[in-house]
Amino acid sequence: MTTEQNHFAYALSSNDAWAGYKSNQNPNFFSKLAAGQAPKILWLGCSDSRCPETTILGLQPGDVFVHRNIANIISPTDINTAAVIEYSVAVLKVKHVVLCGHTCCGGAAAALGDGRVGGVLDTWLTPLKAIRNIHREELESIQEEKDRAIRIAELNVQYGVKVLMANITIQEAIKERGLELHGCIFDLTTGRLKDLGCGTSKAIAGSESQLGDLVRVQDAQLVIGDSSAKMTIAAV
Ligand SMILES: [Zn+2]
Repeated sequence: MTTEQNHFAYALSSNDAWAGYKSNQNPNFFSKLAAGQAPKILWLGCSDSRCPETTILGLQPGDVFVHRNIANIISPTDINTAAVIEYSVAVLKVKHVVLCGHTCCGGAAAALGDGRVGGVLDTWLTPLKAIRNIHREELESIQEEKDRAIRIAELNVQYGVKVLMANITIQEAIKERGLELHGCIFDLTTGRLKDLGCGTSKAIAGSESQLGDLVRVQDAQLVIGDSSAKMTIAAV
């Protein structure tokens, strides 16, 4: 679409086309969604627009319970994160908790700098700044700025996983029913997820994105045009 077009109007037309497409694929799709949820994964990720968890996992509405914030920071006193964890783990009984950072993260880059971001953002990024200070020597030894940002994003996930492991709700679910906790990095340059192996189990060998098969396309397609999106149905 061009910059002159109304982005929200475009999004509405895209939604309409998507809803038609999903109904065509599976006439029971929305009635099943409306009947309730039983997601198997809790995703804790960054708010970055380039990391939409359900899309990058190749999954569907109803598959992933989500909490995202700037730079996927897990603070034990953040009631928002804590409430999402408690509901999804204790009530919905998800089987996996995934904490995911990503490459090219603006929050990670900001934490590496010495300047003030401004407003509440400096306060929010404090845990990431603390990680930077603890690992200053290692981080400063990395030549490329983008590689430094990737490394601090990995460290942030490792620290976050430790905070999650200390969460009582998560501890009980690990003990009682084998809840699994995973730390990952999403590589924006390849679209692949890397399991850092810092959770309850070791990284799945060669596990970079094994989920592509879950996307199944039937005899309809979503056509994204310049001014609108629509669904077309292939002749049978
Ligand atoms: Zn980010």
